[in-house]
Amino acid sequence: MSPQNISCPTIDGIPVIADADVVVIGAGPGGFAAALRARREGCSVVIVEKFDMPGGVHTSGLQGAANAGVGGIHSELMARLDREGCLYTADEKSLPDWAGNPLAHYDYYLPPGSAFQRTSFNPDGAGNVMLRMLDEAGVQALYGAAFVDVVMAAEGDGRRITHAIVETVEGRRAIAGRLFVEGTGTSEVVARAGAPFVRGGGRQPETVAHDGQSRPVPGGLLWIMGGIDFARTAAYQKTADDPRLERLIARARAAGDIPPELYRPRLADKGVYGDHYIGHPTVDMSPIQGPGTFILWQNVPYEWALHMDDDAEHASRAKRELRRLIDAEAQFLRKYVPGFENAFIAHVGRYVGVRDGRHPLGEYVFSMDDAREERRFADAVTRPMTKTFFWDAYAKYSFEVPYRCFLPREVNNLLLTGASLSFTFETIFMVMRNFPWCTQTGEVAGLAAARCIREGVGPKQLAWTEPLF
Ligand SMILES: Cc1cc2nc3c(=O)[nH]c(=O)nc-3n(C[C@H](O)[C@H](O)[C@H](O)COP(=O)(O)OP(=O)(O)OC[C@H]3O[C@@H](n4cnc5c(N)ncnc54)[C@H](O)[C@@H]3O)c2cc1C
Repeated sequence: MSPQNISCPTIDGIPVIADADVVVIGAGPGGFAAALRARREGCSVVIVEKFDMPGGVHTSGLQGAANAGVGGIHSELMARLDREGCLYTADEKSLPDWAGNPLAHYDYYLPPGSAFQRTSFNPDGAGNVMLRMLDEAGVQALYGAAFVDVVMAAEGDGRRITHAIVETVEGRRAIAGRLFVEGTGTSEVVARAGAPFVRGGGRQPETVAHDGQSRPVPGGLLWIMGGIDFARTAAYQKTADDPRLERLIARARAAGDIPPELYRPRLADKGVYGDHYIGHPTVDMSPIQGPGTFILWQNVPYEWALHMDDDAEHASRAKRELRRLIDAEAQFLRKYVPGFENAFIAHVGRYVGVRDGRHPLGEYVFSMDDAREERRFADAVTRPMTKTFFWDAYAKYSFEVPYRCFLPREVNNLLLTGASLSFTFETIFMVMRNFPWCTQTGEVAGLAAARCIREGVGPKQLAWTEPLF
């Protein structure tokens, strides 16, 4: 069942370059795991990725936060990244002033000086490993190919996708498939196929959403700085009693060296968003790749209300302005902050990550009530998971996810994964969009696709009765 290259057929005048059992659009953690699992189950698989490697936000977007394996492909990937030297772990010995430091993106809340381990993967090294894993499995991957549209056909009461249309270096091309997997992270296939979704910009904190404007949780552009002597920074924080660098920031602002959008206060509504995402009162960083190398966050200002997934002007503005802010931050750090004198911009992410894009409406939409009431489902893909719901005053619930969350309404042969699952805004954003979970949902979709091909049924007819994880 290897993918078949076809020399001459066309659809709507567009050459059809491949025909596969399963066509996966987007190779982030969701698409990557879906393609790998479907291929290992014996399907022919084509995956389309607009950048040059798999991994999505976590490689092309530089995110790189590593977690202990949660089973399946995720555990396999973490073990392989470790074996192939892609993981870097900082701890209290290598970074004694990190735990409890207000500049530490993940570790600020720890008791100062306490033991900690912060593991990251080198984004480009990890992308290479993921690329090889797809090759080894025999997935036909098209990199540098942007999905732009679908061809649909009527089927029963609904519709099915027959082809994905992609832009390649050869121009516009079509890929035929029996089943399609949504792996774009922003539900682009759902949108092009005309399936229903809710636009990004869920429940808003009253303090800022007073004008009725829809404001998505801001996305962010991640960047890496090398050549940082963090021991000198920490020594400055202590001796000058300036843990948040407020004095340096104030001095630079007075000198006109910091634009107003840089170092913004966080929103007060901590119960709504947690205190991570909105606003950066100070530098926000995490160790990555090796000593002296840190990843830094640059989020879109919340007030700009940018819909970067579906508004071209918003997407372009975010790219332009965030690079400007990264430049300004790098210059501030080098000029004012001890320890950064020799630091340099090593890498800026290939794209601005979207945190709150389209939310597809599937055959089941997982909501806060499902979590609160700890509902159980006959078609659960997971055994009960316990997670903290920041949105709900940090309550912990044990819950299951039904297979129907993978099935978009109105399209018969599309499976959802990752950040594009049918979850309400607050459940996907606050709890269910992290790397391990997106890899798991990709694997569920890949297995579902393979079972459908074997049994000759569509995803909506497939009986899912056993949790995979
Ligand atoms: C700034 C930021 C920070 C985050 N921090 C963390 C964190 O610390 N820990 C954590 O676990 N999670 C974090 N997340 C969440 C997590 O990264 C995402 O939810 C997760 O990566 C979603 O996986 P995905 O596979 O659905 O999509 P993505 O990772 O977004 O991957 C989608 C892939 O599809 C490709 N694609 C998109 N459109 C097209 C197209 N038209 N044609 C071809 N290819 C296309 C993209 O290039 C990309 O490779 C963060 C997210 C953001 C945005």
